[in-house]
Parts: sequence; structure tokens; C-alpha cells
Amino acid sequence: APNNAMLMARRRAALPTGLGQTYEVFAERALNAEVWDVEGKRYIDFGGGIAVLNTGHNHPKIVAAVKAQLDKVHHTCFQVLAYEPYVELAERLIEKTPGDFAKKAYFLSTGAEAVENAVKIARAATGRQAVIAFGGGFHGRTLLGMALTGKVAPYKAGFGPFPAEIYHAEYPNPLHGIGTAEALRSVEHIFKYDVEAARVAAIIIEPVQGEGGFYVAPKDFVQALRKLCDQHGIVLIADEVQTGAGRTGTWLASEQWGVAADIVTMAKSMAGGFPLSAVIGRADLMDKPLPGGLGGTYAGNPLACAAALAVLDVFEEEQLLARSVAVGEKLTAGLKALATKHKQIQDVRGLGAMVAVELFKDGDIEKPDADLTKRVCAEAIKRGLVLLSCGVYANVIRILVPLTASDALLDEGLAVLGEAFSAAVQ
Ligand code: PMP
Repeated sequence: APNNAMLMARRRAALPTGLGQTYEVFAERALNAEVWDVEGKRYIDFGGGIAVLNTGHNHPKIVAAVKAQLDKVHHTCFQVLAYEPYVELAERLIEKTPGDFAKKAYFLSTGAEAVENAVKIARAATGRQAVIAFGGGFHGRTLLGMALTGKVAPYKAGFGPFPAEIYHAEYPNPLHGIGTAEALRSVEHIFKYDVEAARVAAIIIEPVQGEGGFYVAPKDFVQALRKLCDQHGIVLIADEVQTGAGRTGTWLASEQWGVAADIVTMAKSMAGGFPLSAVIGRADLMDKPLPGGLGGTYAGNPLACAAALAVLDVFEEEQLLARSVAVGEKLTAGLKALATKHKQIQDVRGLGAMVAVELFKDGDIEKPDADLTKRVCAEAIKRGLVLLSCGVYANVIRILVPLTASDALLDEGLAVLGEAFSAAVQ
């Protein structure tokens, strides 16, 4: 039987280095919040395939829905021959998206494509070119996605030139010295130094920075952005690829803003692991591109649409939004208890079940500790816990565990995390 070492050797020989791999593990099967590798070792999955498995691995309802669709039709290309699940999904997502205005929605396959499409629409609708994104933000690995992403290594290094007219403002991050007022000033500085507001098509923001470190945008900041956008006719895009589909205690994190984005992007957990992303936005903007300007061969694939409809049903049947809040509270309590034991943990934060800890040498917030972060993850995987790190300083451990995980499994995972921490700080 193949083992991890043998498969890693084959992988290294056949696949490029740039395709990173967090752990030298090959999965064999998975169920809910547990994975078993090719050697039969069991793991608790606190990473959820990077925010994709809010409804867990192989949820029986989602598997059944996909199998049923597979037996009917699995590809036509929606723009050639349509199918009802696509339309039903659009209707149901529109219903769940904030904003007291008419909306439309359509589908693609990846988060990066959804982001690209949101910008295409904003440009087509405004007739403007410039886009403002944020430092530390992540928006994907396509050319425009990379341009919007606010972190050079490893995402942009060597891959330029990037599309023109992309500017980066500061994302509010009080822990690292950027308050709401300073972040807003940095947007104003772009209008003053780089591009007039009247030429800006869109501002794109993650409600909580995902890859950037689980920093939460304060409500007053997004409300001020909304005002700026209204004042200057700029389209506000919420990139909810990582925050969406119930991760933060509400279906969309932007529901907690008190103001609505004009366009929302979703992907990851919306289809429980099947490749699907969405652009949902103001109907008047969404209708601006010409027929044929939007879409893609596989975009909104029937299997992925069936999965996404099943995800919506599972959220209702299992009350996963309430569970998201409860999981967040439980994780936060566990991590706060851990923080009292280890001065390296200087911040426990998040929104709903999107929870993280940030690590510093000697507890000094001038000294982000990327090495300790790596060691904790390494000790955790040895003990059968999948953890993900993130952050502009690579010193954040984030948790994206399935919301369907039992309390007992969360406790077990937190206990392993505690052991991994003790081993790593030695
Ligand atoms: N936007 C955000 C906020 C993300 O977190 C990600 C993926 N980590 C993307 C866009 C890109 O999504 P994908 O990898 O599916 O292209």
C-alpha cells in the first residue's frame, strides 16, 4: 500500500515547488471533521480545506444531492442549455444577501473568478477603471486577483506586470498600529496622491481578512467606506469568499455591517467542497455587461449547484448559523484559556466561528513569531490535528473547523492544540 513518504517523493518529482503543501500527508477518506490518511492515521480537521467545509466532509445530504444530479445531467454549459438548480440557487442566494434593492446573481467556479467578475461588472457599470483594495488582503491567484492581493511574497513575487489602476489602502488593524481613522485616511490619500475618486470603479474589502490574518474590519470603518462610495459613485464589493456561507455566525459576514455592499463574492463553503463561486449584486449593475461577457464553460456546473442547494438545506435543517455562533464561543473560550498559560498568545479574535490566535516572541507585539507558529502546526499534525496558519506576519493560527463538528470533537481538538503548544514552546 502507498505511504505518505512514497507519495510525497512522487509528488515532488512530478509537481512544481510553487504548488505548496502544508503537511506531508495524503488523505484517503474523510467524514465530517475527521480525515484518515493513506496509512490509516486519523486527523481532526481544524482547517476545513481552507474554509470550504462548513458543512463537513462528505455530508450525507450533500453527497446524495450530487449523486442524484449526476444521474440526471452533469454538464451542458449553462449558457448553451440551462438547468433549474442554477436558477433556484441564484434565487435563494439573492434572498439571503443584504441590501434593500433588486439583485441578480450568477456563478463561476473559483473565488478568484468571482472577484474578477465583480470588478468586471463594477467597471462596465461605472465606465471607470481604478480599483482600491487593502494591504494584507487576498483575492486569488489570477492576474487581477494577484494585483488586488496585498501581499507580495509568495503571491505576487515574480508574476508581474499586473493590471494597471489597482491601489492599496491600509486595512484597519489596531493591534499593528492602524486604527479606523488611519485606515480611512489612507483611502483619502489614494484620492489625493494617486487617482481622483471620480475615476474609481470599486473598493473591494474582505469583512474579515482571511489569508491576511483574521483581522476583522470594524463596523464604523465599513460604514464610512459605504459613505465614501455613495458620495463618489464607487461600487463597494464585499469579498466573502472566506467569510461567507455561515462561517462568521451569519450567512454573510456583511450582514453584521449595518450597511450593504453593492456586490458580494462567495465561493469555498457555499457548495461544501464542490467548485462553485458566486457574484451577487445590484441588478442595475449586474445587467451592464453585454450578453456573452460573463460566464464560462464549467461555471455553475450542475453538480456544484446541486451541492450548494443541499448546503442551504443543511444550514436550515441543522441550524448551522446558531451553531456557528456556539462553535465560535467555544473555540474562543478554549483559546483564551490557552492564552492564560502562554504569554506568546497576545490576541484571540475573530467573528463567529472564524477564530484565530496571534503569536509573538516573549509576548512582545513588536515581535511576531512565525517560527513558533510553524512549530505549533508541526507538533499538531504529529498529534493528528490539522491546523492552518495565516497572516501578513505568518504568526496567526486560524481555525476553520466544520460547523457540524461535535462539541466532543472540538474539545478533543482544543486539547491537542494545547499539547502542541506546550511541545512547541519548549
Ligand atoms: N478571496 C478570498 C477572500 C479568499 O480567501 C480566497 C481564497 N483563499 C480567494 C478570494 C480566492 O479563491 P480561490 O482560491 O477559490 O480562487
